[in-house]
Amino acid sequence: MTPKFDEKIEPIYQEVLARNPGETEFHQAVQEVLESLGPVLVKHPEFADHRIIERICEPERQIIFRVPWQDDKGDVHINRGFRVEFNSSLGPYKGGLRFHPSVYLGIIKFLGFEQIFKNALTGMPIGGGKGGSDFDPKGKSDTEIMRFCQSFMTELHRHLGEHTDVPAGDIGVGGREIGYLFGQYKRITNRWEAGVLTGKGLDWGGSLVRTEATGYGATFFVDEMLKVRKDSFEGKTCLVSGSGNVAIYTIEKINELGGKVVACSDSGGYIYHEKGLDLALIQQLKEIERRRIKDYAEYHKDAKYVAKGNIWQIPCQVAMPSATQNEINGKDAATLVKNGCIAVGEGANMPTTPEGVRVFLEAGIAYGPGKAANAGGVATSALEMQQNACRDSWTFEYTEKRLQQIMQSIHQLCYETAEEYGTPGNYVNGANIAGFVRVARAMVAFGLV
Ligand code: GLU
Repeated sequence: MTPKFDEKIEPIYQEVLARNPGETEFHQAVQEVLESLGPVLVKHPEFADHRIIERICEPERQIIFRVPWQDDKGDVHINRGFRVEFNSSLGPYKGGLRFHPSVYLGIIKFLGFEQIFKNALTGMPIGGGKGGSDFDPKGKSDTEIMRFCQSFMTELHRHLGEHTDVPAGDIGVGGREIGYLFGQYKRITNRWEAGVLTGKGLDWGGSLVRTEATGYGATFFVDEMLKVRKDSFEGKTCLVSGSGNVAIYTIEKINELGGKVVACSDSGGYIYHEKGLDLALIQQLKEIERRRIKDYAEYHKDAKYVAKGNIWQIPCQVAMPSATQNEINGKDAATLVKNGCIAVGEGANMPTTPEGVRVFLEAGIAYGPGKAANAGGVATSALEMQQNACRDSWTFEYTEKRLQQIMQSIHQLCYETAEEYGTPGNYVNGANIAGFVRVARAMVAFGLV
């Protein structure tokens, strides 16, 4: 699909394509932001004078390294590790680590680029970065995971620091992996530096609500979009793709707000349960036993598992894609709208293709893009850093309240920015512009660095 750029921005995008060949996900993420920025250069000519867009599209630093590790049989494997330190204007580089076989530089750059604006929207002092590896954790034993994490950190540690670069989890990296990574960092550096990683265990510097934060935050964001439309989750049928940490806590919060989630999924297929998903069972299967979502049907005879099925064909009023990038294409988006979907909140990063986004915007439904809707995870990471900095730990209630306030203020900022720039209700423009302006103002202040 041809991008729609302002004439000043077109050559900048062409330069990004030429400089980063083959990195299609990164191109897509850049395109989505740059399409919103034409009117910003009119209002802020100083951003063009300082070549802020060109500079923002080029990471400050990109690190690629070898990760050798040994499996339980003693065989040696080599993976590739990445950390892209994209932008440190607002604070130390902050963003997760993804362990998945699809990872290559283009995926990490797309995620890191999104992270710059997402983190800016939270209003917290955090810059943008992302990292990970093409290592596949699926089917690996606990000791293999440990050895891999130790080897990964042996190389990465020299680039990290609580004031420099602060990773967290993402797909394939949860509490267990953060534990092994933190243990190795501590051993190598001889520093008990809590603020160097977030998503830590509660006994050793973690924050309450961090596990739930992305899912809760995305649900709060959708709740705010519904409030604008004088509506709520009460009685709504909802779809949540995925069944990882983001999906599980999205389901929990939707239930609390009176909605009913009828389906979720994993890479094998989806489970449909008309009377509403049994969340305790999903948690048991996925969080404790590390099993597949297809096993859900063994416990509920009235639920249906559809192998390789397309979850977006199930009629719903609210859809919350919480699995991975590009999981909703133009056709899926059209099906959702036709079946009566009125709100979409992205728990995953860039789960909707550009065609899909266009369908949602043209239909005028409430569409909350990932960089706004899923910012609750990283915002709570910043709250974890805050607690670490003053050696404190807050209650669940207080931390959740802070998260909710942050999501409300992100929603308000995106909503008002969309209005200010003449596109009311367009949260894509609102999020891109508001996030960009915060970073750009800091970059202008710092001079050419
Ligand atoms: N991986 C999450 C994200 O995409 C969280 C990052 C963090 O907490 O640093 O925003």
